[in-house]
This record gives sequence, structure tokens and C-alpha cells, in this order.
Amino acid sequence: MKYIPFGSTGLTVSELGFGGIPIIRLDEKSALAVLHRAYEAGITLYDTANLYRDSERKIGMAFAHLRDKVVLATKTFRRDAAGATEQLENSLRVMKTDYIDLYQLHQISQDEDWDKATAAGGVLKAVVKAKEQGKIRCIGVTSHNLAMAVKLVKTGLFGSIQFPFNFIEDAAKGELHSAARERGMGILAMKPFAGGMIDNARIAFAFLRQYPDVLVLPGFDSPERVDEVVSLYQQPHTVSDADIQRMERYHQELGKQFCRRCEYCQPCPQGVMITSAMGYKVIAARMSPKVAVEFTKVAMESVAQCTECRECVDRCPYDLPIPDMLKEHYGLYERHKSESLS
Ligand code: SF4
Ligand code: SF4
Repeated sequence: MKYIPFGSTGLTVSELGFGGIPIIRLDEKSALAVLHRAYEAGITLYDTANLYRDSERKIGMAFAHLRDKVVLATKTFRRDAAGATEQLENSLRVMKTDYIDLYQLHQISQDEDWDKATAAGGVLKAVVKAKEQGKIRCIGVTSHNLAMAVKLVKTGLFGSIQFPFNFIEDAAKGELHSAARERGMGILAMKPFAGGMIDNARIAFAFLRQYPDVLVLPGFDSPERVDEVVSLYQQPHTVSDADIQRMERYHQELGKQFCRRCEYCQPCPQGVMITSAMGYKVIAARMSPKVAVEFTKVAMESVAQCTECRECVDRCPYDLPIPDMLKEHYGLYERHKSESLS
């Protein structure tokens, strides 16, 4: 495992990170086994979020005795200072630490999010103050909206940007990554498997390792999965012609029928949380159906408000049949809900 500077933030991180979502579905003992295997394999960067249920707590338990050996990253979804401060204090408590290395504003994708974050009483002032107090070493931001992510990077206010990046969703390699590099920002890649759409780890990482300053955050749900991915980092990473053809096949097979979570379709006049609901199938596959039902409840219940007006369809750059797809996801959610109640 190589260790590289995280932009010019002063942090040094392993070339491969750890995404904190899949450990949600593991019991405590199994989660600790995965986290410790990752650490033994040389992974030092652990990324989680207040939103990820008990993921912060499990990471805190795993590394309380190794605090100075790991780089801990978490996030707040709150846009107001009071809410964000409460979440930060909670993160510090459950992660058993007195500082977070990288604290990120989670999913700033709409103008409305940014307006709230930067308003008087918004989250931005709170995190700057927490940094001055030594509770945060670096402030970062995450987004799924390319135009917004570029805008956030260009504000010069953040030390890092986290955005989806994989061979299916590679738009970030253009202006976004260039603008972040120019500013010495750390670059994090979420969703290396395109939210579960890519099932070939070798090709996924062969593509990603062409960008050695982009820190990839795969989620792991077993020690064996850690070993599998880490072993890829011990091998040469050339992308062959056959790999390029395989990537092309993924593009063709997936076609336009999957949601890239860009959020251009929002807002829905009926308040349907389209992007979150469009991810239900993948979330159910990654977590257990029971946890997925709880985790997505607010978003999935909002689908019932859909009047099929198709405003979202007009705005989706991928021409997805959103109301039909929502109905399909909602049907699956309802089935999982009734199964988890029985
Ligand atoms: S079709 Fe449904 S989800 Fe799309 S904008 Fe209209 S009400 Fe909202
Ligand atoms: S439904 Fe379309 S516009 Fe909405 S987030 Fe998904 S890909 Fe983007």
C-alpha cells in the first residue's frame, strides 16, 4: 500500500480508502473484523457520515486505540449551524476522538443547499469555527451534481471534494478534478462500483488507478472483500484493450436505464425524493432489505405523492422513465416492508 499526500491539506493517506456504508448491515463483531483487516492491509483513510446509522460508532470502536494511525472522515447533512454542531459533537463522541481529520458538508447538490449552508446561521460558519477550535483538521464537501461540485471547488473554501467516479460515471475527470488539483484539494471518489452497477472489481480499479491522486472509497462488507481489493493494488494496473471492450459492454448493457444521482430532475413539485428513491434497488442489495426499508423510509414513502406529471423526465439528461422506475422501486420497497413486518 502506498501513502500519498491528500492534496495540500497536510494529511497523508493510504492510496485506497474505506467507505463506511456497508458496515451498517454487519453486526458489531463482523464490522470490527472488516475494519481491522482493512487496517492490517494498510488502509488508513476511513470515511463515514452522521447519516450512516451506527457506522461512525463501529469505526470509533475499531480505532480508538489507534487514533493517531488513522485518518477519520465523516459528514453532516445538516445545513444549519446548530444542527451541524450537534452532529459534530455526536460524531466526536461516538468516534471516540477529540478531532475529525476531514469533516465534510454532505451532498451539497442544489443551489438551495448551498444557500442554506452559507446563510447567517448556516453550517459553513459552524464548521469554520470548529476548525479554529481544533475539532476539525480539514473541511471538505461532497456532491452528486457536477456543475455544483465545480462551483463548490471554485469557492476555494474547501480542502477536499468527494464526487462519484468510476468508468461508467467518469465526468469528474474533466473540469472538476482539474479545478480541484489546481487548488491543491484532496480528491475523493465515491461509488467506485457505480452504486453496485459494476461487478468486476479488477476492471473497476484498473480504471481508477489511472488517476493516482484520486482517493477511492470502496465499501467493504467482509475481510475477504478487503483482501480481494487490496490484492489488486499489489498488481500492475494497465488497462488492456479487452478491459476497454468490457467497459464498453457495461455502458451498452446499462444504457440509459440507471440513475446517476445527478439530481437535475429535482425538485419535484409533489416533494418526491426522486434521487434517493431511484437508488432503492441498489441500497436494498447493499444493505439487507430490512435495513434498506428503515434507511430509505422517508424517501420511499414520498413516492406515493407522484402524480406522473413527468416534469422530472423533461429535466433528466439521461431520459430515464422516472415515474415508471419509481413505481418499480416502490413495489420492491412495499414487498420488503411487508416481509420485514411478518
Ligand atoms: S413525475 Fe412524479 S416524481 Fe416526477 S416530477 Fe412529477 S410528481 Fe414528481
Ligand atoms: S433520475 Fe435522471 S436526473 Fe434524476 S438523478 Fe437520476 S439520472 Fe439524474
